Amino acid sequence: MTKNSSAPDAIAFCVRCGNCMITRMVGDRPRRACPECGYVHFTDPKVGVGVLVVEAGKILLVQRKMEPERGKWSIPAGFLDQGEDPQETAVREAFEETGLNVTIEQLIDVYHNPPAQGGASIFILYRARQIGGALQAGDDADAAGFFAPNALPELAFESTQAALKLLAKHQ
Ligand SMILES: [Zn+2]
Repeated sequence: MTKNSSAPDAIAFCVRCGNCMITRMVGDRPRRACPECGYVHFTDPKVGVGVLVVEAGKILLVQRKMEPERGKWSIPAGFLDQGEDPQETAVREAFEETGLNVTIEQLIDVYHNPPAQGGASIFILYRARQIGGALQAGDDADAAGFFAPNALPELAFESTQAALKLLAKHQ
């Protein structure tokens, strides 16, 4: 089973009774389930949120410190925390990764990434505007900076490439 499967092997023990979990069909999918008490583990999609910040025609990018795609550049982005509004995630990640305070202007699109790519399966992209702060790479990033659309560094993730292509078309 891959890590994005509906029945991840890592779910070894029942959270309700502690018994060993097994894999069985639940509806049309294999799921981890407890043969003792009947508890079924449902996997949730991972939701990523990103921000496109453009200033004087240049795009804010960060260099990734972590796998996947370590060393390549992407827009500031991160995972939605439980109970968090995705717009808050976007503002939080932009600040954590670049030191800039941003305000959300609009939703650009919602992308579905194939599970095989790893990372987020649902990716929400906002357009945002800088309202303060000072540009400085945060703990999650090796570097941060603004880049002209015709002088972009090596980009990570298909969603980043797609978003920037779209932007270039509208300028
Ligand atoms: Zn159980």
